[in-house]
Amino acid sequence: LQDKLNTAFRTLKGKDRISDINVAATTKEVRRALVDADVNFKVAKDITDRIKDKAIDRKILISVEPGQMFVKIVQEELTELMGGKAESINIKGDPAVVLIAGLQGSGKTTFSGKLASMLKKQGRSVLLTACDVYRPAAIEQLKVLGEQIGVEVYAEPDNKNAVDIATNAMAYARKMGKKIVIVDTAGRLAVDEVMMQEVADIKAAVKPTEILFVVDSMTGQDAVNTAKTFNERLNFDGVVLTKLDGDARGGAALSIRQVVEKPIKFISTGEKMEALDAFYPDRMASRILGMGDVVSLVERAQQAFDEDEAKRINAKMRQNKFDFDDFLGQLQQIKKMGNVKDLIGMIPGMGSAMKDLDIDNDSFKPIEAIIQSMTKAERETPELIDGSRKKRIANGSGTSIQQVNNLIKQFDEMRRMMKKMNTMQAPAAMKKALR
Ligand code: GDP
Ligand code: MG
Repeated sequence: LQDKLNTAFRTLKGKDRISDINVAATTKEVRRALVDADVNFKVAKDITDRIKDKAIDRKILISVEPGQMFVKIVQEELTELMGGKAESINIKGDPAVVLIAGLQGSGKTTFSGKLASMLKKQGRSVLLTACDVYRPAAIEQLKVLGEQIGVEVYAEPDNKNAVDIATNAMAYARKMGKKIVIVDTAGRLAVDEVMMQEVADIKAAVKPTEILFVVDSMTGQDAVNTAKTFNERLNFDGVVLTKLDGDARGGAALSIRQVVEKPIKFISTGEKMEALDAFYPDRMASRILGMGDVVSLVERAQQAFDEDEAKRINAKMRQNKFDFDDFLGQLQQIKKMGNVKDLIGMIPGMGSAMKDLDIDNDSFKPIEAIIQSMTKAERETPELIDGSRKKRIANGSGTSIQQVNNLIKQFDEMRRMMKKMNTMQAPAAMKKALR
């Protein structure tokens, strides 16, 4: 997906403004990329149509590449489509019942353990219930997990009736004062009628406060169809997307949300009990786009950058002509934007170039003094600054030769970074940061 999006955004490179023409070309590429990431074609088309309108409407800030601006629009749209905000589960009830459904191997039992562990850590009394009566190892698997996390497991190894077991577990939970019952069910390799009927019967018997559908994110388009079938039968409340630690493509999250109109509530990112996260649509959008903090950088830049100044500097950066005067100008802009350390960390390349500095707004003072002690020629052509000039600059700015050396070194590194970035698209640069 990343490569596809890079191709898409490359279309915009070098253009100062998003025009109809390049938006059309770019959205087409984005659509293709989304489809490749397992997003349903119709969903991908809807998304890109909307993005197209927004991109054309939006005035593009010059200080950041229009490509990045476009990324931001796509990111916002994806976030919105995935529900905007994180959603919780309903665990009110006496006891509350969380029913876990999904295909075999999707990660139901593992997730049941994780959810139990999470709720236990919140101080709730939880009972896990083993309703997979088809595989002898299934009960054992849940028991092992229960022991590991210190949560009791209700099981009836000799009983083959899952509905009975679930009903008995409820009675047991009431007797023992457990507040939440998590019912782990069986799954088949493909959706089949017997399994569907059984889960539906369990639902009718225990009246869950929350039904979660667990789906393996690696299964791509199939995940969407499975979700649809389960939803028609169970009308579930939320989705758990598992195995996102692999090279799963986030596209399933988008399609499922669009097709069944139910929120994704958790993502599972590993076999360990801790590997469970609430689902944050914005983070998933970033994952799909693979671009890390570029989005927030664009946002803040939008708020504070002086457009003309930014335009001028951007042009110089593109031509690899960034000099000390520009550097000074940037420092002053950055100071206006607030927390310097955060901001610098967000700029690809700058973070590492400036990591040796203990940065706050005051630490700019010697830097500013050094640059101000340079002659115009020295600022424009830093290569001129030899040993005797360094000494003069250090004296003039009340700093040491070493400080002058450091600054020049950092400046050189920054310029090298910029040069690199000019031949590389920002999303690719951020891909590394995202890992
Ligand atoms: P169930 O048949 O739906 O109960 O699935 P299980 O919970 O038994 O999981 C099937 C396999 O997937 C097991 O080997 C799990 O360890 C593994 N698994 C479950 N969730 C994840 C996950 O988020 N990431 C990875 N890498 N493996 C997972
Ligand atoms: Mg299982």
